[in-house]
Amino acid sequence: DPHVHIIGGGLAGSEAAWQIAEAGLRVRLSEMRGSGSMTPAHQSDRLAELVCSNSFRSDDAERNAVGLLHSEMRQLGSIIMAEGDRAQVPAGSALAVDRDGFADGVTARLAAHPNIEIVRERVDRLPERGVTIVATGPLTAEALAQSIGATTGSDSLAFFDAIAPIVHFDSIDMDVAWFQSRWDKAGPGGNGKDYINCPLDKDQYLAFHQAMLDGDKAEFREWEDVPYFDGCMPIEVMAERGVDTPRFGPMKGVGLDDPRTGRWPYACVQLRQDNASGTLWNMVGFQTKLKHAEQVRIFRTIPGLEHAEFARLGGLHRNTFIRSPELLDRSLRLKARPHLRFAGQITGCEGYVESAAIGLLAGRFAAAEIASRDMPPPPRETALGALLAHITGDAEVETYQPMNVNFGLFPPIVSEGKKTKKADRKLLYTARARDAFAAWRSQQADLAVAAE
Ligand code: FAD
Repeated sequence: DPHVHIIGGGLAGSEAAWQIAEAGLRVRLSEMRGSGSMTPAHQSDRLAELVCSNSFRSDDAERNAVGLLHSEMRQLGSIIMAEGDRAQVPAGSALAVDRDGFADGVTARLAAHPNIEIVRERVDRLPERGVTIVATGPLTAEALAQSIGATTGSDSLAFFDAIAPIVHFDSIDMDVAWFQSRWDKAGPGGNGKDYINCPLDKDQYLAFHQAMLDGDKAEFREWEDVPYFDGCMPIEVMAERGVDTPRFGPMKGVGLDDPRTGRWPYACVQLRQDNASGTLWNMVGFQTKLKHAEQVRIFRTIPGLEHAEFARLGGLHRNTFIRSPELLDRSLRLKARPHLRFAGQITGCEGYVESAAIGLLAGRFAAAEIASRDMPPPPRETALGALLAHITGDAEVETYQPMNVNFGLFPPIVSEGKKTKKADRKLLYTARARDAFAAWRSQQADLAVAAE
């Protein structure tokens, strides 16, 4: 009998299987491709197939959060990183891979591992018992998605993401923007100043409206006929309905007193805090299909956002994911059914590397649990820890949407007195992360010895 059953042999499931097998435990890895089932994006039956770009993004561990994540994963024996490195193709400071060579490498090494049994089968129901990792990804097959929804509650399972851009707080011009909730309304724990407001006068609004109509948009082929749910309509679709539609919707100016004029603005863009530390703010109601470069160009015409740096740009994709911050504990277990762990993009991380990273942690947590060994989560100062903390508790539950790893998820580094240059601050984040990671690892070595 296997110690752990993993459902889904993508980026997360492959990494989790490797970690558990390397810890000396037996794994059953169920993958539906190769058994007559397919997702709309995959093209082969290889494990860890890359469905779109062939890039793992920046490999710079000094200045880039995903580069730092690469480095932490390598130190933990990641198979996804090892095979990515082996299949590397030239791409400047990014790590890009030969996609066939990469997926072939992962598939062959997992198949050859004595502790791993790969079973080509589609799983339609969550197992009732046995340590299980669900890693079925953004295109989870329908029957299993229903079973997950029945377990988590359908409100807690999304079938597509409707992503509004997220801005780094320190790039917002607070001489123009101001803190205020509409009508000064204080929510639970609030003080009537929960939102950041960016005012537009009539000319600015009309130009902005026109820019949204003219802007280049991405296609959304798979779901073109699906009606938008309430609250998920892209802002440019709203703009197409009429010149005043956004201004009577998310861009309302009523109840907001611009301190520079003492009046309500003609229109207003509101940003809502997106993480506990207040380093990230999302643009309320601005889910969009505008192309990324267009979003940057158009949204920087909003007063106060002229120099906005985006932690994430908006988008709309098919994407199955659960409301992890509410549902999962710090070791990625479903609180209500702790024999079930979730890993990969279905937890609401975004990206190949992030999905593999969460698979790596899920695998290690499961292995530690079976060996009755305590495994403290990686500290939040590390890339793995920042990503894990975001997924399992720090993010705002109501607006939870998938996100890549970025420095905005790390505990902020407060620069005393003089302003630290942005480039230097990145070095501070990664230096702090390296120390915290090393400390965490030495702590685990101690635990491993203690368990023997
Ligand atoms: P996957 O890699 O999708 O693995 C899930 C596996 O589970 C699949 O092999 C699937 O066949 C299997 N499965 C599903 N249901 C069942 C079932 N019921 N029983 C058994 N097996 C099942 N990220 C990037 O970094 N760069 C990109 O360019 C990029 N492009 C993307 C394009 C698309 C169209 C999509 C949907 C996502 C993209 N992503 C991209 C996001 C994400 O990083 C990848 O989807 C990544 O593969 C997620 O890893 P995962 O392990 O969570 O899921």
